[in-house]
Amino acid sequence: MVNAVTKIDQIETMILDIPTIRGHVLSMATMRVQTAVLVRMRFSDGSEGIGEGTTIGGLTYGPESPESIQSAIDTYITPALLGRSADDVNGALQLVDHLVKGNRIAKAAVEIALWDGLGKRLGVSVAQLFGGAVHSRLPVAWTLASGNSETDIAEAQEMIAARRHNIFKLKIGKRAVAEDVAHVARIKAAVGDAASIRVDVNQAWSLQDARWGLRGLQDVGCELVEQPVRARYLNALRELTRAHEIAVMADEALNGPEDAVSIVARGAADVFAVKVAQSGGIKRASEVVAIGQAAGLGLYAGTMLETGLGTAAALQLFAGIEDLRWGSELFGPLLLTEDILATPIVYRDFTVEVPQGAGLGVSLDPDKIDFFRRDRARSLKTVAGE
Ligand SMILES: [Mg+2]
Repeated sequence: MVNAVTKIDQIETMILDIPTIRGHVLSMATMRVQTAVLVRMRFSDGSEGIGEGTTIGGLTYGPESPESIQSAIDTYITPALLGRSADDVNGALQLVDHLVKGNRIAKAAVEIALWDGLGKRLGVSVAQLFGGAVHSRLPVAWTLASGNSETDIAEAQEMIAARRHNIFKLKIGKRAVAEDVAHVARIKAAVGDAASIRVDVNQAWSLQDARWGLRGLQDVGCELVEQPVRARYLNALRELTRAHEIAVMADEALNGPEDAVSIVARGAADVFAVKVAQSGGIKRASEVVAIGQAAGLGLYAGTMLETGLGTAAALQLFAGIEDLRWGSELFGPLLLTEDILATPIVYRDFTVEVPQGAGLGVSLDPDKIDFFRRDRARSLKTVAGE
């Protein structure tokens, strides 16, 4: 009997618009809806794989939009992969890297679906495909981004009381530096030692702003500052990393292993915010992790505010990382009014649980997918750029 090779038969993409539970105020946009791009891959043996490629705030965050992610997959990636061996994930990644430059989030969505399909066919988790999980749960931060100190304090105290989060990331950079530092000081004073306070500036500061900002943040007990200046200003990031004790984390500056090498070579960060989407997939993210580990940097599991699907993909990777010194922010599903998984990701005791089962360990709720699909004539739009 001939051993038939399982092939990639079909790759379907869809855009989902899911409302957020409150306005999420970032330095560059306010999100009221999160837009996710899902990939559903069908294989010749009847198995399936699912993936997600999601970004934040349309094109205000980075060079890929939900629409460009879908278009890159449908127009360029899918035609190259149809008919190929479903199990040859490395071959698919190499081919796609050869044919498509950049477009890391689009690549990640497809790659996640390939790993999910492979894990399901073999009956093992994606974490197992990467050598096995060493954690069943990870510490998980929450982002305070209502834009108002009193609302943020109430939200933080609620989260601590419910034992859901005791790590808070504050989104700042929209107001004057002194106002932002005062906002952070109020929140830190309110929560005291019960919580770790960090901030994300999303590239909004000049180097001059950042010199004042980091000193002020450090003085009020903030532990870490994420991407204070533009991603390409590695010299500025290096100066800030060296000049202050507060940890400097690279996020937008970190798009895959090549950027990881540049940042390490320049000494331009203390911590990597490792994101599956921004890295170009689970495998590339694992390479970013390896570079960070080899350089002795701190690691943090970052999010693009994915649904439970993309969150599960990240959990499968980070479950296998021994020292995740700065924890995770894999709370995406909690910011959405509804999760799209048949069984939602579990959050409790200040941690997020790694889904168990084959592949990503999750499946979609078809009714919710139908309800939130953009091509089913819904017209919710992200309010970006205000
Ligand atoms: Mg960030």
